[in-house]
Amino acid sequence: MFTAPQATDHKSLSAPDWSAIRADFPLLSQLAHQQPLAYLDNAATTQKPNAVIDSITHFYRFDNANVHRGAYQLSERATLAFETARDKIQRFLHAPSREEVIFVRGATEAINLVAQSYARPRLKPGDEILISAMEHHSNIVPWQMVCLQTGALLKVVPINDSAEINIAEYQALLNKKTKVVALTHLSNALGSITPVDQMIAMAHAREIPVLVDGAQAAPHLSLDVKQLDCDFYTFSGHKIYAPTGIGVLYGKQSYLEAMEPYQGGGDMISRVSFEHSDYNCLPYKFEAGTPNIAGVIGLGAAIDYIQAIGIDHIKQRERLLLDYATAGVSLIKGLRIIGTARDKASILSFVMDSAHPHDISTILDQQGVAIRAGHHCAMPVMTRFDVPATARASFSFYNNESDIDQFLQGLHLVNNIFSGKNG
Ligand code: PLP
Repeated sequence: MFTAPQATDHKSLSAPDWSAIRADFPLLSQLAHQQPLAYLDNAATTQKPNAVIDSITHFYRFDNANVHRGAYQLSERATLAFETARDKIQRFLHAPSREEVIFVRGATEAINLVAQSYARPRLKPGDEILISAMEHHSNIVPWQMVCLQTGALLKVVPINDSAEINIAEYQALLNKKTKVVALTHLSNALGSITPVDQMIAMAHAREIPVLVDGAQAAPHLSLDVKQLDCDFYTFSGHKIYAPTGIGVLYGKQSYLEAMEPYQGGGDMISRVSFEHSDYNCLPYKFEAGTPNIAGVIGLGAAIDYIQAIGIDHIKQRERLLLDYATAGVSLIKGLRIIGTARDKASILSFVMDSAHPHDISTILDQQGVAIRAGHHCAMPVMTRFDVPATARASFSFYNNESDIDQFLQGLHLVNNIFSGKNG
């Protein structure tokens, strides 16, 4: 019998004990440059709680075997652990069936899968793929590749100065030639939350399928693919407290059934001869080769962990941290926030008159504060806001006000250094 290590049930407390939750993440207790580590790069990747680390260690210590193959106890245990995680993810997404949950390497692979297996065989010259102006490169380049392969055209819905999608323009861009819409649920560079429910309904009114890139949304928002009615939904494990190298593609069964496999190999077939191969049923048709078994088990444990805290508690906590940080940076001279959407999650992108984002992040690093600087794999967003790069602090529920105070002190230091006050 598979016995996964259990996550601490923080949800049983009416208000979660956030310092106890922080203590579940061993990495966060270390020093960086002799200062407490303030890890504020959660949009790039998240730290892992003991429950996730222990689930992986447990798998390798006691249950490691290949899945779906061995007729022996160990392999049966590994398969049970692997498929139990699929059930957890189905419930987490509110997907109608477990066959619609496909394991992939991450959001990037999921989008490439849909681009190649759904779009490429169906698109003709002159057809259109519609994305937004605030997509991550992972939701731009796979579609550009399909455009090159098929002669289709990539169309882009603009955003306003607050980094909100222009819905009237979106409506105007949807037309008979639009064959796929692909939208971020939450922008990694700006923090904006896209009104995907409304946008999906508008696309469906024209029978256009919609892929939602949930790489940033999965750790911060409650997800219900059935209610959203999206046709495809993608996310990456490592942004939701699980390991790297594992992610999920949800797809409506009718689409997945109609699509050709993305890759060929073991596990995705039911019968092979030199003349012909029959493909396996869903979800295995899209899972060629030995999967990332430990990653899947770690992802299941991560989902147990955040569900034990409760996504509503997480949303409230992260809203509070974002508001606290936004109020703090508003007092910093020469700092401008890039991305001021009304509906926004815990991502704070900014530029400063005094220093380039790379200098900001280098100075903050010396103060023990880890933030990201650069284009955040969203170069067109930088062009839209006419900046070469931004500095970005992104918060998780395990962050606290001290992390943000340390970050704000670092920003004051940036101004002092570049105005010559510090020597
Ligand atoms: N989409 C968004 C909005 C992202 O933020 C990211 C990663 O930063 C991705 C897609 C790609 O995710 P991954 O690199 O895990 O495949």
